[in-house]
Amino acid sequence: AGEHQRYLDRTRKSWELLNRTRDLIPTGHAGGMWYQMPYPVLLNKGKGSRVWDVDGNEYLDLRIGDWVLIHGHANERINEAVSRQLPLGSQYGSPEWDLSYRMASLLVERMPSVERVRFMVSGTETNLLALRLARAHTGRTKLAKATGSYHGIADVLVVGSSTISFIKDRIPPGVTPGVAQDVLEFPFNDPDGAEAVIEASASELAAVIVEPIMGAAGMVPATREFLQRLREVTARHGIVLIFDEVVTFPIAYGGAQAHHDVNPDLTSMSKAIGGGLPLAALGGTTELMDLLDPDKNGGRAPVTAASTFGGNQAALAAGIACLEMLTPEVHARVQSLGERARLGIDAIGVKYGLPLHATGFGHILAMHWAPEPVVDYRTRMQDDSEKITNLGVALMNEGFYHFSFGSFLLSTTHTEADIDSLLGGLEQALHNLGY
Ligand code: PLP
Repeated sequence: AGEHQRYLDRTRKSWELLNRTRDLIPTGHAGGMWYQMPYPVLLNKGKGSRVWDVDGNEYLDLRIGDWVLIHGHANERINEAVSRQLPLGSQYGSPEWDLSYRMASLLVERMPSVERVRFMVSGTETNLLALRLARAHTGRTKLAKATGSYHGIADVLVVGSSTISFIKDRIPPGVTPGVAQDVLEFPFNDPDGAEAVIEASASELAAVIVEPIMGAAGMVPATREFLQRLREVTARHGIVLIFDEVVTFPIAYGGAQAHHDVNPDLTSMSKAIGGGLPLAALGGTTELMDLLDPDKNGGRAPVTAASTFGGNQAALAAGIACLEMLTPEVHARVQSLGERARLGIDAIGVKYGLPLHATGFGHILAMHWAPEPVVDYRTRMQDDSEKITNLGVALMNEGFYHFSFGSFLLSTTHTEADIDSLLGGLEQALHNLGY
């Protein structure tokens, strides 16, 4: 109660503005996601790893625009790239090849399985396009996904168990049972269990989709063995394997597929690739992606995928600047920061005798208050969300802006000192809560 009251006292202006905005916008703010408990603080400035709210509070940002700002806020090189493009126009019907070709080259160069690229705007769209290509290629209809994973807002993507609290039913309201029939679930991080589900329906399955780290479900990494098994069983039955790397693209140079040395057929990329502007890309093998090419199909592409903003020049300019700064050395540095944070959280759990431990990889991490290590949907559901939320509120009060479900994201602008201050803040938050 003390920490909640402190939150209310510190963020009165956010509360007032939220309630005023709610008359027009149901979530009370225009951000993509609600998440923060008891209500979101409203931000109006960000620079590097710092953000400020409307009450003037400064925070270390551990949410980076919801997995987006891998180089922090208002990065100068990205801002310059966008500023160079804007006077020439931001959107053409058929843009010159330069920006799109350069961006595509940067993606193809680093993502081992990606030979061709199609730009879109959101991760939902690239996952839908991936599924359509898989269906066109295989002539089959069904999609198998891991229990608890999140792939976007489209009907076919929201069917199934989810750790995201706002989708409680297997068939959420507004989704038809017909769509739900096309979706199967397999257990995350259970190679034998997943193989059994896929084998049993192999002749109907167009695609298997997986997040190499379940992101919205609490930053739970897939094991290499699990991803390898998905690759083996899908290859055996001609099922298209889709890696949803919307979140994991920046965990390593070449994403999770390079880190684990497992090549999917199609890869969804979004969030960080646009350097802070809306951009998504579906990448894949020539064979599959050529279904989008009219010239290779007698003048009429079997699969069409228009995207008005997919070639937006400002977003491509930002994305190129962003990727040019993401070198293998930069990835290694951020990975070691993430490791420092994860080890620090585990050590705090031991020091206080609490079931607190960290998951994640690279710049992605989460703390869990759970009796067993969190490795899948079942163990994740044992996470004590009330304890994590209370700890999250206390951490916000100490100046650490993050999702209230215990997840943290780092950027290239974070430092070792930032990690140490987060760990110090976590201990202070525990003290404030009486531990
Ligand atoms: N895939 C994953 C793994 C995500 O985390 C998200 C969004 O959080 C999406 C897809 C959907 O992306 P978008 O919100 O751009 O549609």
